[in-house]
Amino acid sequence: MKNTMIIGGGFAGLSAGVALASQGVKVTVIEQRRILGGRAYSIEDGTTGELIDNGQHALLGAFHETQKFLTTIGTENLVRYQDRFRMVLAEPDGGRMILTGSSLPPPFHLLTGVAGCRGLSVRDRMHLLRAGASIVMKRSLPETMTLKDWLDRLHQPESLRQRWWYPLSVSALNELPHRASANLFLRVLRQTFLGSLRDSSFGIITVGLGDLYTEQARHFIEARGGEVYLNAPADRLAFSGRRFEAVVLRNGGAMTADCAVSAVPHHALRKLLPPELVQKTGPFEALDHLGDSPMVSIHLWFDRPVLDEEFIGLIDSPIQWVFDKSRLWKKDETQAGALACITSGAYDLIDRSKEDLIALAQKELGRFFPEVRKAKLIHSRLIKERLATYSCTPEAERWRPDQKTPYENFFLAGDWTRTGLPATIEGAVTSGHRCAELILKSRSERSFRPT
Ligand SMILES: Cc1cc2nc3c(=O)[nH]c(=O)nc-3n(C[C@H](O)[C@H](O)[C@H](O)COP(=O)(O)OP(=O)(O)OC[C@H]3O[C@@H](n4cnc5c(N)ncnc54)[C@H](O)[C@@H]3O)c2cc1C
Repeated sequence: MKNTMIIGGGFAGLSAGVALASQGVKVTVIEQRRILGGRAYSIEDGTTGELIDNGQHALLGAFHETQKFLTTIGTENLVRYQDRFRMVLAEPDGGRMILTGSSLPPPFHLLTGVAGCRGLSVRDRMHLLRAGASIVMKRSLPETMTLKDWLDRLHQPESLRQRWWYPLSVSALNELPHRASANLFLRVLRQTFLGSLRDSSFGIITVGLGDLYTEQARHFIEARGGEVYLNAPADRLAFSGRRFEAVVLRNGGAMTADCAVSAVPHHALRKLLPPELVQKTGPFEALDHLGDSPMVSIHLWFDRPVLDEEFIGLIDSPIQWVFDKSRLWKKDETQAGALACITSGAYDLIDRSKEDLIALAQKELGRFFPEVRKAKLIHSRLIKERLATYSCTPEAERWRPDQKTPYENFFLAGDWTRTGLPATIEGAVTSGHRCAELILKSRSERSFRPT
C-alpha cells in the first residue's frame, strides 16, 4: 500500500506524522537513532537512574502549533503555563530583577510591568519603554540587520542589554546578538508580547521530553495503521525526473512511498541528496548557506535545595539560565537540588573540557546563590550539542527553504526551514504541520482531478 514516508523522528517529523495519521493517511516514520526525539529527547542518567533531558526546554503561550500537536496526542496537560508573563534574573550581589506582566491587555501588560520593574534603573526602564513603542509600530526591519545593529540604533544601554535583551534573545534565537537576525527577533517579540495575555507566558514542561511527546506520538501513528522504525538510518534519497522515488537505507534496503517528508536537520539532508541537487544553482543550494550554533547543558545534583525559583536567568554570566528540576518536575524532597544549567550560542564553552565546565558552573552558581556555596555537589553531567540549531544570521534567513520543493511529492520539515520562526519546538512543529497540509491538499486535488 502506498504511504507517506517521514525521515526523522523529532518534533517536525512526528508532528507531520500525527497530523497526517489523524486524517487517515498511512505514515511510515524512519529514525536513525534507537530513540525518538532528535534534539529534544530524554535519557536515563546512569548514576542517579533519573531521567534527564538533553537540554531543559521551555515553551511559550505563543507556541500555538505546539499546543495543537500536544492536544492531539493528549499531553497538553503536562505543560503548566504561568498565569502571566514573569521573568526573574539574578544579580551577582544577591539582588533580583523581577519583571511581571500586569493583567491589562497586551502590550500594556508588559509596558506597565516594565514601568514597575524591580531591579531596572529608571533610565533603563525609559529606554525599554521607548524600544517597546518601536516594536509596536514596526512590522519588519531591514533583512541584513543584526540584533546588535538594531539595539545600537535604539540606543539601548549595556545595563539594559544584560538585563533584558540578551537573556531573551540568546535563548529565543540560540545565537549571539552580533550574529543574529534582528528581523527574526522582532517577529518573536511581536508574536510573544502583542498577541493574547497567555502568549507571553512561559510554559513549563512538567515531565521529561520523552513522556511529553515521543511515545504518545508514536502510539498515535501506530494506532492508525502507521509504522515507526528506529535504528533505521536513511543513506540517500532517490529522485526520478520531478518526483521522489525511494529512500535507500544504510542497510541497503529501499523503501518507496507516494510522497516523502524530510524531517532531518539541514546538515543531515545535505548528505542524503544527490550532490548535483545541492550544487550552486541546484534546487537545494540553500543547504550550503546554513551554519550551526551550539548549546551546552550542565546538569548538577546538589545534596540540598539551592534555588528559590523554578527557573532563573543569570545576569552577565556564561551560564544563562538555571532550571530547578526538583521544582519543575515536582520530585520528592529527597531529590531536591537537581539543576539544569543552559547556555545558548555557546561558542565560548563548546570546546572546553567536562571538568572545566562543571567547575565553571559551580563557581558561577556560587557567585549568584549563597546556598550553592554551602551545598555539596554529588553528581554532574555535561551534554554538548555542537549542532544544536541552525545559526539564524541575516544571511541564513534569506536562504531558509520553503516546505514545498521543486519535487511535487517531496517536502521539507524541520526547525531550519522557512517558518518565520527561530529554531524552536514551535518552528519544528509549524513546519511539520505545513508539510501535512501540503500533502493533504495535493491528495484532495488529485482525487478531484477530472479524468
Ligand atoms: C539543548 C537544547 C535546548 C533547547 N531548548 C529549547 C527550548 O527551550 N525551547 C524550544 O522551543 N526549543 C529549544 N530547542 C530547539 C528544539 O529542540 C529544536 O528546534 C527541535 O527539537 C528541532 O526539531 P526537528 O524535528 O526540526 O529536528 P530534530 O529534533 O533534529 O529531528 C531530526 C531527526 O532526524 C533524525 N535523522 C537525522 N538523519 C537521519 C537519517 N539519515 N535517517 C533517519 N533519521 C535521521 C535525527 O536522529 C532526529 O531524530 C533546544 C535545542 C537544544 C539542542
